[in-house]
Amino acid sequence: MIAEQSNPDIFVVEIGTPLGKIKGQVAVDSNPMRLAELVPIVYGITDIMVKRTMDRLMEGGKNISCGPGCGVCCRQLVPVSPPEAFFLVEMMESMSKGEQSEMMHRFDNAAQIIKQHDIVDALMDPSLDDDHYLPVARKYFSLQVPCPFLENDSCSIHPNRPVACRDYNVTSPPSWCSDPAMHDIEKVSMPFPLSIFLARFTAELTGWKLHFIPLALVPEWVSENIAIKNRQWPGVDLFQRFMSLIGSGPSSAGEKKESPESIPEKQL
Ligand code: SF4
Repeated sequence: MIAEQSNPDIFVVEIGTPLGKIKGQVAVDSNPMRLAELVPIVYGITDIMVKRTMDRLMEGGKNISCGPGCGVCCRQLVPVSPPEAFFLVEMMESMSKGEQSEMMHRFDNAAQIIKQHDIVDALMDPSLDDDHYLPVARKYFSLQVPCPFLENDSCSIHPNRPVACRDYNVTSPPSWCSDPAMHDIEKVSMPFPLSIFLARFTAELTGWKLHFIPLALVPEWVSENIAIKNRQWPGVDLFQRFMSLIGSGPSSAGEKKESPESIPEKQL
C-alpha cells in the first residue's frame, strides 16, 4: 500500500489486494477526524473489490442471484465494526425527526425480540470464535428479525449499508436463502473483508478487544460508547495509520501474507 500526499488534503492511494491493485485519490480532512469518517473510504474500496469479484464470476459464466426485493439475508445476523456502528448512528442523526423516531422504534422492536431469546451475551462476546458463531447466527436467523433498515424487502440505506451487506452475495437460487439448513448456499467468497481492519484499528486505538456489534443492537451499543464515537484524532495521521494497517493484509493475487482474525460473516 502506498499513500502519498500530493497536496495537503488529497492522497494518492495504491492498495495491493488479492484481486489486484486498487489505485485512487482520497480526500482527507486535515482537521481532526472521528472513526466514522474512515467508513466511506472503506465502502469505496469494498465496492471496487465486489465489482471485480462479480466481473470474474461473470467471466466464468456465473451470475449473482441477489436483487432488489429479496430481503431474506436481511434477517441474518449482520456484524458491524465499531466505526461502522458510529457511522450508521451518525447517518440516522442526519435524518428528519420523524424518520429518526420511526427508525428507533424499529431498532427497539428488534432489540426486544433478541433480548427475549437470551443470545445478547453471546452476540456481544468478543471471544466468540468460528465454532460458536455459527450456532448463534443460526439461532438469530430463526428469530426472523428484519433489519430495521429493511423496507418492502429492500435496503433503505443501500449506499450506506455495512461492509457485511456489501460483501454478501450468492450465486445459488434466492429461494434457498430462506432455508439454509436444507441447501448448500453458494456465497461468493470475498478475500479482503475490510470491516476486520476497521475493527482491528479500533482495538489498537482504544485498547478494546476486537469485536463486532450485531446491527440490530447498534444504537444501544453506540449510546454506551459515545465518548469513542465523538473522539477525534488528527485527520491525516488517523488516515495514514489506517492505510498502513490495510497494507499489512493480503497484498497480491494468490498471496496472503497474514490472515486477519476471522471475521464473523453475514452468512449461515
Ligand atoms: S443494512 Fe440493508 S442490506 Fe444490510 S441487512 Fe439491513 S436492510 Fe439488509
